[in-house]
Amino acid sequence: MIEKYSEIVGEDEIDALFKIAAKLKDFSILHVNSTRAGGGVAEILNRMVPLMRELGLNVDWKVIRGDNDFFKVTKSFHNALQTGQGNLPEGAFETYNKWQEINSAEVPLDYDIIMIHDPQPLGLIDYKKKGKWIWRCHIDISNPYMPVWEFLNKRLSKFNSMIISTPVFARNDVDIPQFIIPPSIDPLSIKNKKIPDSTVRRILYKYELDLDKPLLVQISRFDYAKDPIGAIRAFKMAKKHIDLQMAYVGSPATDDPEGEEVYKKTAAEASGEKDIRLLMLPPYSDLEINAFQTGATIVLQKSIKEGFGLTVSEAMWKKKLVIGGRTGGIPLQIIHNITGYLVDNVEGAAHYIIHSIRNPDIAKRLGENAKEHVRNNFVITRHMREYLMVMAYVTG
Ligand code: UDP
Repeated sequence: MIEKYSEIVGEDEIDALFKIAAKLKDFSILHVNSTRAGGGVAEILNRMVPLMRELGLNVDWKVIRGDNDFFKVTKSFHNALQTGQGNLPEGAFETYNKWQEINSAEVPLDYDIIMIHDPQPLGLIDYKKKGKWIWRCHIDISNPYMPVWEFLNKRLSKFNSMIISTPVFARNDVDIPQFIIPPSIDPLSIKNKKIPDSTVRRILYKYELDLDKPLLVQISRFDYAKDPIGAIRAFKMAKKHIDLQMAYVGSPATDDPEGEEVYKKTAAEASGEKDIRLLMLPPYSDLEINAFQTGATIVLQKSIKEGFGLTVSEAMWKKKLVIGGRTGGIPLQIIHNITGYLVDNVEGAAHYIIHSIRNPDIAKRLGENAKEHVRNNFVITRHMREYLMVMAYVTG
């Protein structure tokens, strides 16, 4: 129930949402992305689409299809855009184009407003029939591998506007309006709502964690950008000084074929460490994720590249001390020394893990600040309001 959010963000925010939605009630709206589950984009759409419908909007969500070759190509694009280095499969551009054509025949594109999420379905714009198109970019495009960026950018001018998550991703080589809209979490979802202590303990116990020992948690897909190996190394470094256990929790995403390889390397780094639980949970393990975040003493998000990092706000909402990599959208969430700690390397992460375990009062204060920072900035109602404003803008 959308009205329930007024208890979190105030009634004015909900009134504003209904007012803007009223302006868009005659338009059909479509979201398109590349996976139904796994990763932040699917996480947000799963929550936002039903809420937008509650606002009286006519909203659909479609997921494009592809074979393993296509997702290898799109993952190589993703890495190329975020790291500046290209390692593309042979015939990458042809494979990409072929699947855009296949999807254009299967995804109905006769909507008034189409929001395309990330590069995977961006090429659908070539099959535009009508309406206003918005490209919602969730990743770091500040220093891309230019051949891939130019391949995509050629099509961007056909869009009516684009949205990025933080000002540092803004580009001076696109000629459409760029809006800055950070993502958000849903405080009322199973993943983020308050759950009983007994549930937390039951789940941690089930995964063989020691209920009396400080717990370091990182929740992330097995992706080099999340630096799982660095996270394990930081744990091992800290463990030399303090008693500690770690849970690294990941799950597969259908559009990420690299997961298995990264998992294996992470497992090799963790092998022989009896205090590390490396878990691969099925998608939709929201209650478990909630329990790991709630039960954590410290949450780590050791990313070396990050679009936004919903996991950071999820943990901050639970008043956790979060240590995050200084990259992408993480510094929007973590204000160093105020709402958490930002780090640049493994040594930094280990330092703040030790510091936070030794200074629980400081960790508690930062955790409390963290929750208020999320309430003020990263709740789904603000995010929806800003999307609706862009939609109102493009439809004039
Ligand atoms: N997530 C999950 N299970 C996992 C790993 C991640 O449910 O095993 C969720 C996580 O809680 C968050 C989302 O997937 O809601 C990841 O979003 P984020 O922005 O942190 O990273 P992305 O995967 O989109 O790069």
